[in-house]
Amino acid sequence: MNEISTVGIGHGAGSPGFVQLVFVDINGVPKGMEIPVDRYEDALAEGIAFDGSSISGFQRIEDSDLVLKPDPTTYTEVPWEGIARVYGYIYKDGSPYGADPRGVLRAAIERLEKEGFRAYIGPEPEFYLFKKNGTWELKIPDSGGYFDLVTLDRARTLRREIALYMRAFGLVPEVLHHEVGKSQHEIDFRYDEALKTADNIVSFKYIVKATAEMRGLYATFMPKPIHGSPGNGMHLHISLWRDGENAFIGEDGLSETALHFLGGLLKHARALSAVTNPTVNSYKRLVPGYEAPVYISWGYRNRSTLIRVPAFWGNGARIEYRCPDPSANPYLAFAAVLMAGLDGIKRRLEPEAYTEANVYEMEDSERAGLGIGTLPESLGEALDELKRDRVVREALGGAYRNFVEHKEREWEDYLEYLASRDIPQETKKVTEWELERYFHV
Ligand code: GLU
Ligand code: MG
Ligand code: MG
Repeated sequence: MNEISTVGIGHGAGSPGFVQLVFVDINGVPKGMEIPVDRYEDALAEGIAFDGSSISGFQRIEDSDLVLKPDPTTYTEVPWEGIARVYGYIYKDGSPYGADPRGVLRAAIERLEKEGFRAYIGPEPEFYLFKKNGTWELKIPDSGGYFDLVTLDRARTLRREIALYMRAFGLVPEVLHHEVGKSQHEIDFRYDEALKTADNIVSFKYIVKATAEMRGLYATFMPKPIHGSPGNGMHLHISLWRDGENAFIGEDGLSETALHFLGGLLKHARALSAVTNPTVNSYKRLVPGYEAPVYISWGYRNRSTLIRVPAFWGNGARIEYRCPDPSANPYLAFAAVLMAGLDGIKRRLEPEAYTEANVYEMEDSERAGLGIGTLPESLGEALDELKRDRVVREALGGAYRNFVEHKEREWEDYLEYLASRDIPQETKKVTEWELERYFHV
């Protein structure tokens, strides 16, 4: 018997009858098909064909045959459904398909490996739980805040249940807690090699949503579901390793490698945000007052900066990139962030914009004097930056063109909606358009 059934929430033993083959679309939304388990051997050898024209950001209808080949190292069982689940790579005409997000990350990892590095990433995904009442009237099931317990933390058993399911998926939960927002939560899990962590993020969101649904709730990772309440971030803790050792450890603090990596992130931060914060709603989160970054700066232990270097001991040397949110496609976001950092290492970029002060409280002139820039204020602005940044563009490989086309359409749809309602373009309020479009994120 596994741990799940000992607490009476699983379906128990027995081998799965079906295998769910999973990939993500350009938005990072998991997609898949199920095959009877006796076809799994064939799927491993030949792959399974599917129609790429019906997947957001993939092929046009005239040329839409794609093939998904499972990656057997990702095989896990889904305890509550009695099925197995496996991630795959996508192929077109016998070669890796350029717009496959998982393939894009693999290519970025290979470029890092050529320079002798392995990347490790640990995420801090945040989410809200809602009771859906009718259409979009959202009811919050608790009124707790940061680290609240017992009666203010009505979802505590649900969080533990999620953590047990995570273990069954091979994720290692590390910290579970109520977040600052009413009915907002965070579950951190152990860092791992970048591709594994990206898969883990997709699995994590799947587990959280499925478990919440089983308990009559709705989980959303939308970056800013409620105007005036904290947003959902997904801070990334990143380190590079070389020859089995953490290459971010210096004599006295961070190594040169780490500082150049940081320099690369700062340099490309504005273009990166198109990928790490890829929705209209992402820019409603990046405003002062809610512990979300706005200014392009870094510091030790400083949570007002875009990049924080946490206090560390021994192998814990790492940087925390605070911009990403959980609406990002983790494969594309990791590829972009890692290639921006690698560019910093190759060009030996120095990290400017260091500060020990609270950047939100500075005068504009003070920030300017320190070389502290501002993150884009909208998806449209971020996309313009992306188009100008060769390093980030190239990091997205064959997914770049599809990504930009898809996101530009999203931005234009939003502008049309605003115009039709006479809403000013600069609004930081969360619109109905966003709730409809992103609530499932
Ligand atoms: N919710 C905050 C954000 O939007 C982060 C809070 C924290 O530091 O954990 O990034
Ligand atoms: Mg948090
Ligand atoms: Mg954090």
